[in-house]
Amino acid sequence: MIIDFHTHSFPEALAGRAIDRLAASSRARNYLDGTAGALRASMREAGVDYSVLLPVVTRTGQQEDINRAAIETNRHSAQTGLISFGGIHPENGDYREILRRLSENGVKGVKIHPVFQRVAIDDIRYLRIIECASENDMIVITHAGYDIGFPGDDFSSVGRIERMLDAVKPKKLVLAHMGGWDCWEEVEERIVGRDVWLDTAFSLLPIEAAPGTVRSPQENPPLSREQFLRMVRRHGAERILFGTDSPWSGQRQMVEAIRDSGLDPEEQEAVLWGNAAGLLRL
Ligand SMILES: [Zn+2]
Repeated sequence: MIIDFHTHSFPEALAGRAIDRLAASSRARNYLDGTAGALRASMREAGVDYSVLLPVVTRTGQQEDINRAAIETNRHSAQTGLISFGGIHPENGDYREILRRLSENGVKGVKIHPVFQRVAIDDIRYLRIIECASENDMIVITHAGYDIGFPGDDFSSVGRIERMLDAVKPKKLVLAHMGGWDCWEEVEERIVGRDVWLDTAFSLLPIEAAPGTVRSPQENPPLSREQFLRMVRRHGAERILFGTDSPWSGQRQMVEAIRDSGLDPEEQEAVLWGNAAGLLRL
């Protein structure tokens, strides 16, 4: 079994525009067209049994539609392999009701994205959401580190993540991108070993340039295999979740990268599905 803990899809009518916009700001290639159908085809090709969808609410008003769609998606998870988390914006004042409704409807977690949502992760509005999600026994997954589309923006820097962790001590928190995209040194020093899960999304493979754009190999280099292995083992392989950030990475390529990472077979099984199955209670 393989579970991809970090994927994205968009409603059919919006996917084309959303993907074009994100590919332009990140200069990163999309491997898929952003639809759920393309993701399911990719899962079949890569041998992925379940993909966790992580919708991002960029305007407060979107949460209702996004969360209705998430609940609907989860009615068909057994057939589709798609498990959707909910979304919430730090400016949603009715966060308690939103989280309770998601939890009552069996949604297992919420995604937050400080850079897209333009609020720092140690802001009281996020702290309240993370605390309330914990009370509802929900998983919170946050973007961590820099974002490829917003160079230098420090809404989810390592220092801010440390302050958030010290303030709320969340029970089921996942930091995407191995704890902090494009700040691997700081993460290895200060986040590894803390009481969080780390996902592997967008960390292990070089970023491919979107057509018509240029990326030099020195720009945002991926984690080296040595550093990845060191981080996984120091953090504990039982707290690492396989994630791809599909459509921004290839699922098949990422499965191969884990198989080829130097992790031993038991560690690979834990990372590729065992840890996620436990966290999701599958
Ligand atoms: Zn992502």
